[in-house]
Amino acid sequence: MLLLLVVFCAQLLYTDHNQSKKDINEKLKNLSNRMDELVRNSDNLNYSTIEILSIINQKDKADQDKNFEIYTQILSRQKNFSAIHTGYEDGSFYEVINLDIDEKLKEDYNASELDKWLLIKIDGQNIDKKEVILYDENLNETSKIVEENSYDPTKRPWYEMAISSENKSIKTPPYKFSHINSYGLTFSKELNGSKNVVSVDFLIEDFKNIFKNNLNQENIDMFLFKEDRSTIFAITKDNNLLLDFFEENKELKEFENANVIDIKGKKYIVQIAKLHNPNIDEYIIFFADYKKIIAPYFSQTFQIILSLVIICLIMILLIVYFSKIIVAPIFKLVQESKKIKDRKYGNILKVDSSILEVSILSNSFLDMSKSIYEYQQSLEEKVEQRTKELNLKNEELFKISITDKLTGLYNRVKLDKVLQENMSLSLRYENIFSVIIIDIDFFKKINDNFGHQVGDDVLKEVATILNKNIRDVDTLGRWGGEEFLVVCPETLKESAKELALKLNRVIKFHKFSTYTNNVTISVGVASCGLKDSSYDDIISNADTALYRAKKEGRDRVEVF
Ligand code: GH3
Ligand code: MG
Ligand code: MG
Repeated sequence: MLLLLVVFCAQLLYTDHNQSKKDINEKLKNLSNRMDELVRNSDNLNYSTIEILSIINQKDKADQDKNFEIYTQILSRQKNFSAIHTGYEDGSFYEVINLDIDEKLKEDYNASELDKWLLIKIDGQNIDKKEVILYDENLNETSKIVEENSYDPTKRPWYEMAISSENKSIKTPPYKFSHINSYGLTFSKELNGSKNVVSVDFLIEDFKNIFKNNLNQENIDMFLFKEDRSTIFAITKDNNLLLDFFEENKELKEFENANVIDIKGKKYIVQIAKLHNPNIDEYIIFFADYKKIIAPYFSQTFQIILSLVIICLIMILLIVYFSKIIVAPIFKLVQESKKIKDRKYGNILKVDSSILEVSILSNSFLDMSKSIYEYQQSLEEKVEQRTKELNLKNEELFKISITDKLTGLYNRVKLDKVLQENMSLSLRYENIFSVIIIDIDFFKKINDNFGHQVGDDVLKEVATILNKNIRDVDTLGRWGGEEFLVVCPETLKESAKELALKLNRVIKFHKFSTYTNNVTISVGVASCGLKDSSYDDIISNADTALYRAKKEGRDRVEVF
């Protein structure tokens, strides 16, 4: 944001600098046009005055006093004119001066306050003397003196220029007037081929006044100068400024548009314009004080920049403030939420914030985590409970899967497993194990004669008796129908036979609860041998022995 601000301000300053230069160029151009117009208007007025004068002026020297009234009337109307005069080829001279035009003039000629006009007369026939006559407002003569004369009108610049200009009105460059301590211009015209010249004097000071009103003299210095670079007049606080300027700068054309330059360590915006004067090449030059002219533009820009900086600062403060009261608590909430992920429900803290919404969010977050925690707890309890139940069911199922329903003994599934285990031990460690297969004799008859229920009872009681009479290490199971199997681990054939005989005996002498007759069993015994590779072989051997027991008359034990 700061970088953006700096770039923007630089851009603003650059644009502003260019814009201000453009503006000032435009202003100076307008000013020079206005000045040009003023000069032209003033010149036109003066030229036309001199044209009229040349027509109405008395051609004859003898009638020159008739000019007096005309001259005073023109001088009364044209405040800028200091004097009107006519110079004659023979050195005669007739001049009317407006005494109000210059304060010092009255002093110089010992005029009173009431005196208004000064008439100077030189007669070409008596060139060493001149008459100086004072008149009051009403054209009454108040004093008259005769002085020594050294003034020769035919040697004055206006006379020479007018004579050599082929009957055209001329304007002299500024020159120092002879009887007024002041510079001025003179507009003159030869009186039609007579070598006599009528003129109007024009004080430079007055000429300047035309411009002064149009110029801001605080910021701008102005010089009117000729092609030869001599000053016609200046409105300036530093009279050397133009000379200093010309020392460094030779080409006037470079300043047709406003240009910023350094003159004696001070910056100016300089512009030169050529005036549209048909007779003389005149130029107007403006020196605008760079600092003073540019200052308002820059103060405006600086105000904009200042406002921007202030806005940025406020924004930064707002961002910091909001990040403290919104972003920081939300960041904390995120950290707290990680605790849920890590299942650390006990450590979750409430996040305090002055923003209501953030507080609400924090509270609902706490509620949520509490609810998740409780839900999880109850879920875990339920899972534990269900797992326990499932384990019990599994145990039950497992028991059922290996238990014979009627007798409660192991079923064929379990017997197969026990046989397999014993077979594996036998193959690896050459352990001898034996099996005893038991079949109830003539069982079908019990069913047939006493019913299935009695048959079932007999089966259950046989199972109980057999179970009571085997060793703990032996495994008894129902092999199928009315057949039972005992697996005797680490038991040799003889021991197994002994057990078989014992079982045969206990069954034979048992009194059954629902069956009145005695029950006998036939038993086949077999042990595993080195050549037996599966328990099927041993079972088959035991079956063979059982078959023989049946064949030999039942109620007996046969060993394979
Ligand atoms: P043998 O002396 O040759 O063994 O003759 P037996 O009658 O005992 O043999 P047999 O194979 O001819 O008949 C067995 C009978 O056992 C047939 C069948 O109905 C009966 N039986 C099998 N399982 C059950 C049972 O679970 N309950 C009852 N009540 N009878 C059964
Ligand atoms: Mg049978
Ligand atoms: Mg049987």
